[in-house]
Amino acid sequence: MCGIAGIYKKDGAAGFVAEALFAEQHRGQDSCGVVSAGPGGIFICKGLGLVKDVLSSEAVSPLPGSSAIGHVRYPTQGAPTLENAQPHLFERDGRPIFAVASNGDLTNLPELREIIESHGYKLEGSNDGEVIAKAIGVWAYEDGLGLDEAIAKWVRTGRGAFSTVLLTKDSLYAFRDPYGFRPMSVGDLEGSPLVCSETVALDTLRAKFVEEVPPGAVFTWGPNGHERRLGVATAAYRHCIFELIYFSRPDSRLFGESVYEVRRRIGEGLAEGDETPGDVVIPIPDSSNYMALGYAAARRIPFALGLVRNHYVGRTFIVPEQQMRDESVRLKFNPLPGFIRDKRIFVVDDSIVRGTTIRKLIRMLRENGAREVHLRIGSPPIRYSCYYGIDTPERDKLIAAYRSEAEVASLLGADSLRYLSLDALRRSVSIPNNFCYACFTGDYPAGQKSRKG
Ligand code: SF4
Repeated sequence: MCGIAGIYKKDGAAGFVAEALFAEQHRGQDSCGVVSAGPGGIFICKGLGLVKDVLSSEAVSPLPGSSAIGHVRYPTQGAPTLENAQPHLFERDGRPIFAVASNGDLTNLPELREIIESHGYKLEGSNDGEVIAKAIGVWAYEDGLGLDEAIAKWVRTGRGAFSTVLLTKDSLYAFRDPYGFRPMSVGDLEGSPLVCSETVALDTLRAKFVEEVPPGAVFTWGPNGHERRLGVATAAYRHCIFELIYFSRPDSRLFGESVYEVRRRIGEGLAEGDETPGDVVIPIPDSSNYMALGYAAARRIPFALGLVRNHYVGRTFIVPEQQMRDESVRLKFNPLPGFIRDKRIFVVDDSIVRGTTIRKLIRMLRENGAREVHLRIGSPPIRYSCYYGIDTPERDKLIAAYRSEAEVASLLGADSLRYLSLDALRRSVSIPNNFCYACFTGDYPAGQKSRKG
């Protein structure tokens, strides 16, 4: 999972993009980067680490040019190395021609690698953004299609998920796969277009929301003005439902939905038909807070922030190594015994992936005197891996892949377990058929071939 941003014709462009990326830091904490461009050339600053460290004002303010793009990265394809940090440059004869930053995973990498290598180009890393840059570059400049047509060809033939910004010396492009798996919006910052993954970046910069880039569309801002090419490729929309369940910030709007509202509705759906008696509803902070509020209100059971989160530990789900994940669970949460001792607790979480975190938390609650721990999960059981940009592990590492609800409950040490039904999840969004549910159903809209195997 990653976040992107881009701005066209604004003094201090690189600084604005760095601010937008700061607002999107939750989408990736592994590496980040900014590329600025103008008549003087194309300039890059990227590194491993957080936006505040890599893209400090000292680092980005010297970057010349009035347009810029940027990226925050969490590795789903490719190792957490500098070679895989985005944006990626497409160079000819040692000169940068354009830069690309992309969010999403591709499913036809071997085919694309072959195209790129057959034109005499090599992939330096193993990251999808580099593949997009080089595929478009060879079509545009080696096959002579020109950049506009090469981008259109990419949108028609790239498989999987991509919400992408591309920057040349004089133009900014934004384009999205025809399913629209990952979000991408455009705002207006005092007359300059600002592209971002999530609208929280627009709010942070006090930019006005204009529209979402439609799936399968190519937007261009350049010397000839603004062009919107819609329907360059078409497919039934399949927005990632997990963006709303877990990944995006609650103060963002995406896919025409308020993330906060969807999470509250999920909580209400989770309460339907649940008559288990209990004393208190406690969320696993932070992504489950609004689901727990919805659940507590619907069940008329008191809500309490009974677990205090250490905000200086990375999000458990996006810590890459298993060992680091185990360590971070213990460091991340501390229970408030006053809400827990002798209580029958409903613990609300957004999802269970491996079950590592929640198992430890349940144990911690019992050690702090909880009488009963009932687990309520704001999504259906995750039974399949994601190939479109969320880093779920292989199927056999998913706790619910081959187990019943009762087996998962017993493995986790919970007194009871209820998942949100797929039907209730579908009812929590306005146009349910526009969403991908493949990690629950195995029905993959854009294939599943990838390096994950
Ligand atoms: S498989 Fe799941 S996580 Fe991946 S895009 Fe579809 S809904 Fe999102």
